[in-house]
Amino acid sequence: MEHVTETPTVRTPAERFTGDVYLNLIEAPTEPAHLAVGLVRFTPGARTNWHSHAKGQVLYVTDGVGLVGTRDGGVVRITAGETVKCPPGEEHWHGATDTTLMAHLAVVVGDAKGDGTTWLEPVTDEQYTGALAAVGR
Ligand code: MN
Repeated sequence: MEHVTETPTVRTPAERFTGDVYLNLIEAPTEPAHLAVGLVRFTPGARTNWHSHAKGQVLYVTDGVGLVGTRDGGVVRITAGETVKCPPGEEHWHGATDTTLMAHLAVVVGDAKGDGTTWLEPVTDEQYTGALAAVGR
């Protein structure tokens, strides 16, 4: 077995995220399983761009309060201990609320080319504000 005592925390790239987001890549999508696991910490107001996952994604919230939004206008408020399962190909975003950080484990299965995520445009301030309002903030 392999015992990893520490993983580096890195800033996520600005072309895929809005605001300050920090990633600990726990498992990169390598042979044979192509399993990718990351601990992602979003500071208040921070969120992913719109994106989708070829084989879907499981999010497990470890801390704080956050949001997940989909193209149909659906928004879910997520808190520690909750799980969100994003189906393959569904365009969505996730992030913190405007006042509280949110951290989640993100689990995907990729392929030989990477983690299977297709990155799209940023979530606008208008979309983000609308999502906050939709969950009563
Ligand atoms: Mn996602």
